[in-house]
Amino acid sequence: MINDRNALPGRRLLLAAGMSLLCPGTVTGADAATDVPGPAPEVERLVRGGPMALALTFDDGPSPIYTPRVLAVLRRYRITATFFMLGANAERYPWVVRQVVEEGHVLGNHTWSHPTLRLLTAATVRDEIQRTNDVLARTGGGRPPALFRAPGGRFVPAALRACAEFGLRPIRWSIDTADWTNPGVDRIADAVLSRAGTGSIVLHHDGSLSRSAVPEHEGRADRSQTIAALRSYVPQLLDRGYRFTTPARPTDPFV
Ligand SMILES: [Zn+2]
Repeated sequence: MINDRNALPGRRLLLAAGMSLLCPGTVTGADAATDVPGPAPEVERLVRGGPMALALTFDDGPSPIYTPRVLAVLRRYRITATFFMLGANAERYPWVVRQVVEEGHVLGNHTWSHPTLRLLTAATVRDEIQRTNDVLARTGGGRPPALFRAPGGRFVPAALRACAEFGLRPIRWSIDTADWTNPGVDRIADAVLSRAGTGSIVLHHDGSLSRSAVPEHEGRADRSQTIAALRSYVPQLLDRGYRFTTPARPTDPFV
């Protein structure tokens, strides 16, 4: 549904914004227009890291409870991952953002508040992405991220236009572990072990949108199964010869 948007690298911003309001979620020639030079970027579902390279990605954080536990597993096996963070959580837990960066991992933009993008105006979609870029730059080391993932992986045209404007590469995934449904540690691990291959991008969740001012009471979403599954399958993948990489390129910020 997103493959025809590169046809018109034109400047019909007003028309495109109007169409988005009238027809949310509908990709048309007008929706494909952009206000920035060049085509909207393609959504990437695989990572290019060479043979036996795959990428772990963690969405909806940072969480003061679960992100440090994910980091401990990654540290133990000396592997790198990518964290698609919510701006609202990053603002609330900046020390977690800093720890992620200091331990050598890559930040990605996952919007400010995890909205359903197709229900928003183009201007609001852009604002969700820009504010998140700003807070990640402020808390994560001075530069905005280079990667973006839409909530639910649903990249609406307005989001892709914002990606083009802010220099963000849209990243989806190839292995959905459904870990946010807490299906059991074995099912999460099996989802990865049974489908892993060169270029795989694995989708995990290390947080959820924070709505409480008290971190200890924030645990609306329990990510313990994700962490237990990591402990189980990461050493098995290493034994098979896999390497863990990131969709970011060496020239991207935070690498
Ligand atoms: Zn998400």
